[in-house]
Amino acid sequence: MKFAVEGGARAVRHILGDGAFQRARSDTMISGAPLDLVIVGAGVSGLSAAAEARKAGLSFKVLESTEPLSTIVNFPKAKPIFAYPKDMIPLGTIRVTAENKEALLDELRSQTIAAGIDVVRTHAERVHSKNGLLEVVVTEGENLLARRVILALGRSGRL
Ligand SMILES: Cc1cc2nc3c(=O)[nH]c(=O)nc-3n(C[C@H](O)[C@H](O)[C@H](O)COP(=O)(O)OP(=O)(O)OC[C@H]3O[C@@H](n4cnc5c(N)ncnc54)[C@H](O)[C@@H]3O)c2cc1C
Repeated sequence: MKFAVEGGARAVRHILGDGAFQRARSDTMISGAPLDLVIVGAGVSGLSAAAEARKAGLSFKVLESTEPLSTIVNFPKAKPIFAYPKDMIPLGTIRVTAENKEALLDELRSQTIAAGIDVVRTHAERVHSKNGLLEVVVTEGENLLARRVILALGRSGRL
């Protein structure tokens, strides 16, 4: 789980360090239009990416097929949480310190709210290029155009 948190934050930092992205972003600010980023999946990785994107002032949306943190929601009741390596502090702002499923959900949900992250309930079907951008085709609502897309689908995700 800590590596998923780290991966989400690291992906956003990688995008922020991409000169082509930053140049395209300043063009966007003049013409207005697509999102900077779409994050597919609202597990710990996607939420960590979203918190990092919010901190950096990116325009973004988080898409989730079922419900935020669904993998953890489906853990057995009162499951103990083992967040290894114990001394690892992942990149980004999301923290995993709770010792059972319910406390972990509380901890992650309050961090999501504190970071001002909204999650859009829809399934991303595919991503393809369109006029130099990326179009995320979704099952509910309008398709989204973005400069970058992070796939934070977890092990059971599909696209
Ligand atoms: C039973 C069980 C017990 C575990 N116990 C521990 C533990 O004690 N300690 C630990 O560190 N780790 C544990 N893990 C592993 C931990 O749950 C994962 O490392 C972590 O959830 C990965 O986070 P993620 O964000 O990458 O993926 P996920 O948490 O799986 O999140 C991915 C999200 O993406 C969504 N999604 C997928 N495809 C799409 C799509 N096309 N469009 C929109 N949304 C989509 C899914 O619905 C899901 O909500 C356990 C896993 C399981 C299954």
